[in-house]
Amino acid sequence: MRKHFGPVLLVLACAACLRAAQSSAPKFNGERAFQDIRQLVAIGPRVAGTPGAQSARDYIRKELQAVGVAVEEQAFEAMTPNGLVKMVNVRATLPPAGAAASKERLVIGGHYDTKLFKAFTFVGANDGGSSAAFLIELARALKTRSNRVPIELLFLDGEEAVGDWQGTDHTYGSRHYVEAARQSGTLGTIRAFILVDMIGDRNLVIKREANSSPALTDAIWTAAKTLSRREFVSAITPIEDDHIEFLAAGVPSVDIIDLEYPDATSRFWHTQYDTLDNVAASSLQAVGDVLIAALPALETTDARGAR
Ligand SMILES: [Zn+2]
Repeated sequence: MRKHFGPVLLVLACAACLRAAQSSAPKFNGERAFQDIRQLVAIGPRVAGTPGAQSARDYIRKELQAVGVAVEEQAFEAMTPNGLVKMVNVRATLPPAGAAASKERLVIGGHYDTKLFKAFTFVGANDGGSSAAFLIELARALKTRSNRVPIELLFLDGEEAVGDWQGTDHTYGSRHYVEAARQSGTLGTIRAFILVDMIGDRNLVIKREANSSPALTDAIWTAAKTLSRREFVSAITPIEDDHIEFLAAGVPSVDIIDLEYPDATSRFWHTQYDTLDNVAASSLQAVGDVLIAALPALETTDARGAR
């Protein structure tokens, strides 16, 4: 802005700037993400290595391609207590603005598989559904944003244990992804890994996760405070999840997860009650708004030296 503009022109110019800023501001639509959960739940169980998981991938690909985002699959075989299982991570990269060439990338991930239960039908509206739907909607919201670095959306397979969560029976997708990145020499270009998991519960309470990189957690909780989002509370809890493998490999990581189920609602986790009526668009909206507000800090904070 030059000083010699007259006052009228100045006002007009500012109004135009404001309109431009408003039109390009990314908007996360919680209702639309909720409809994605509805579609995923309609598939039924989406257990790794089953046709349900294939259908979930088909849906993810279709929705991403509809907004012009290219999709890549990372297929692998995992040795599980049930033998070898074919699994597939799905990744989509949103390029940085303009011709900015960046060797670094932000990875925002979540799992799309659901846990295998034989005693009942488990559709994982929250556990598996909310994270996948959130990432689909994030692609729509960030497609027109001026990203400082490439943002990779990572749909992880095989987060769930085939049996009980022990030994190496869990987080198959993230372990494969980290190992593949290590082998291809691209592990060091991951600026940060931001994980979302179980973020659709209608009584959303997200605590700071104890293993997560403090600088990343601070960036997100600062954004939540600015937006007065009470879902992000100051209590701390340790959780094992897909971020652990990234942390172990030296990648700054944060897990945004609600694993807080008071007695009255504990029946919603890993039960037949993890259904559409127990998730809410408003919860997805809260996390979407906070993450988008935190993105400028996440794009510029170098948490690697701070861990
Ligand atoms: Zn689970």
